[in-house]
Amino acid sequence: MSCKVVLAQTISASFREELRDTIKSRNIRPKLVGFLANDDPAAAKYAEWTAKTCAESGVEFELRTCSRNDLEDKIVEANQDASVHGIMVYYPVFGDRQDQYLQNVVDVGKDVEGLHHKYVYNMYHNIRFLDQAQTKKCIIPCTPLGVVKVMEYVGVYNGILPYGNRLHGRIVTIINRSEIVGRPLAALLANDGAKVYSVDINGIQEFHRGVGLQLKKHEVSETTLKVEDVLPLSDVVITGVPTPSYKVPSNLLRDGVVCINFSTFKNFDGDEIKKKAAIYVPAVGKVTVAMLERNLVRLYDYQSQDRAG
Ligand code: NAD
Repeated sequence: MSCKVVLAQTISASFREELRDTIKSRNIRPKLVGFLANDDPAAAKYAEWTAKTCAESGVEFELRTCSRNDLEDKIVEANQDASVHGIMVYYPVFGDRQDQYLQNVVDVGKDVEGLHHKYVYNMYHNIRFLDQAQTKKCIIPCTPLGVVKVMEYVGVYNGILPYGNRLHGRIVTIINRSEIVGRPLAALLANDGAKVYSVDINGIQEFHRGVGLQLKKHEVSETTLKVEDVLPLSDVVITGVPTPSYKVPSNLLRDGVVCINFSTFKNFDGDEIKKKAAIYVPAVGKVTVAMLERNLVRLYDYQSQDRAG
């Protein structure tokens, strides 16, 4: 078995080190406030992890707990507080469209998770900067961005190609089309030049920029293809199925495939996948948290520029 298992800890190390150095050498102390308004143990665990990672990198992290009905007022308070540079909320809170509303209550200038409509719209439309002068990069949602960084690290992105086209020729299957991870990730990878098969419980869509990347941003088309058709074609298979029993059928995977799992559950059979894959990344959580901090430092700088200018 020649499969290389790459851990999120390893991938995130250089980002964490860079953050630590930046924060220390510039003698800054960006402050992140996290709101916990549910009693989901997974959210509490994520908050614990955020606190630990922030402490290691010199970010000030404050966890604020409140009832879900008080959350909106608490977010507004943090929006108005100049000592708070970034805000995040542990979702789900209401588990419906009210969560989407709350994502837009967070000030766009403090949204470390990149879930505000402005960022989501810009991401889908392949608008990479907030300003005409192209000095302020858009914030990209943390988990999709984390998966992009994983793909860069393991060499799926081809550095010889120009920025923005580095996935040209790659075929990627993503099994998850949630609004939080799967759909934005499909758009990001297609905008970078990949042909993406986006699989959900109801079927498959294809995200692409056309032959020769003739389109400026991705388009989506419906397909009647099935999972068993697209898996053997794919250079990369990314999974986020939130069910413990779900396993990708290893026999359908291409020899030498790159497999990345972002689900809390192991969507690949650990032993089988090592016989087929060239590279296997079993989890991405630590990279996601590193992206959260990276987004925070970026927003800290934008706020300083705005105050100065
Ligand atoms: P979700 O329930 O909103 O979406 C699940 C998606 O998977 C849907 O598109 C659904 O159609 C699809 N799906 C479910 N069963 C399927 C099947 N059998 N075949 C094909 N598609 C199927 O969940 P989510 O918020 O996207 O989270 C998914 C998982 O990712 C969870 O385990 C979550 O904890 C994890 N997650 C991890 C991170 C991280 O940074 N590591 C971040 C967010 C979510």
